[in-house]
Amino acid sequence: MLDINSFNSDVIIDSPGRINLIGEHIDYNGGLVLPAAIDKKITFRFRKNNSETCEILSSNFKSSFKLDLKDISRSETEWQNYILGVVYHINVLKPGSVKGFDCIIESNLPLGSGISSSAALECGMAKGLNELFDIGLTDLQMIKLSRDAEHTFVGTKCGIMDQFAVVKGKENNLILLDCDTLEYKLIPADFSPYTVVLLNTNVSHSLASSEYNVRRDECNTALAAIQKKYPRYSSLAEIEPSVIEEFKQILPEKVFNRALYASQEHRRTLEAVQCLEANDLTGFGDCLYRSHNGLQHMYEVSCKELDFLVDFSKKFDDVLGARMMGGGFGGCTINLILEEKVEEFIENAKAAYQEKFDLDLSPIIIKISNGVSKIESDAR
Ligand code: ADP
Ligand code: MG
Repeated sequence: MLDINSFNSDVIIDSPGRINLIGEHIDYNGGLVLPAAIDKKITFRFRKNNSETCEILSSNFKSSFKLDLKDISRSETEWQNYILGVVYHINVLKPGSVKGFDCIIESNLPLGSGISSSAALECGMAKGLNELFDIGLTDLQMIKLSRDAEHTFVGTKCGIMDQFAVVKGKENNLILLDCDTLEYKLIPADFSPYTVVLLNTNVSHSLASSEYNVRRDECNTALAAIQKKYPRYSSLAEIEPSVIEEFKQILPEKVFNRALYASQEHRRTLEAVQCLEANDLTGFGDCLYRSHNGLQHMYEVSCKELDFLVDFSKKFDDVLGARMMGGGFGGCTINLILEEKVEEFIENAKAAYQEKFDLDLSPIIIKISNGVSKIESDAR
């Protein structure tokens, strides 16, 4: 196994996790989302090794594997597929560009908590190889090939938001991203005197990837049915809720609910941004609560621990809004809390959560930070 202490890096990369303020399960429905990169991250150390065999070590898993550049195929071990997929897809775009390398990965991102450790892993890998071998990939190529790696090697049919936020994040800014056109606008993340806090349920979202793909299928079913009558639509997000209502008796109930949620959530993202720009934080918080309500009852990707935390926060005037964040079935809630009351709220929430579920609640204090970046080796 690679020796962490004697490893001399040619390139060091920091690859952040991401939050998403609102616009959940919307990226693959062609709508607006509002993510940002954060200061929790995966650090990658790369070196060239002048051979055909590469070794990659995850310090968190205390596990490493070797890959043969001449024969890249899926592994039985899930985490290896994120790496293999990225190398494979770089090779599709730029054949022969990846040469022998070794890499050590170290992370302070909680896994499977909706903060997108997966996109951090993919995009950090892509950025590192791009720098190490001067491959000349653009940001958009790295974003797309990382997404493709997750589709083809891991099997999660994710949208593009996570990879986009991880690569394009800007300190103190949110990214209002149109997932249809990939046009985006930076929105200053000014919540003062409130702040964003994550609460990790420590419930692992094991259902997430299978149910995720089911939601995608349900949305495709709804869109196909609506397109038969209205061929002009190309995504659920763009369809007015009133048009979706016309299909209430036609679509199966669950499928109808998924479609209506997607249409509403897309519009809610726009409403939330308008609130933020007008400094109406109460209105913004209300959008978060309504988003959770839709995710809980219409999209059905929440769980009892997430619902409990969101309901609990409603009892506190100092919390303006809360919702589950990420794919669902566990992971974190995102909360907008009066900064001077954060500690008090966390204490209360931890105690109530412990009593209800006999589980620890882990607060994650975040700063909105830059996207994936090369760190000067001698800065360490
Ligand atoms: P999320 O993206 O919300 O964190 P996912 O289930 O999409 O959750 O991705 C988590 C997976 O990413 C892990 O199960 C693991 O396979 C991989 N992963 C994330 N961080 C690391 C790491 N530091 N080392 C190895 N694999 C990792
Ligand atoms: Mg993920």
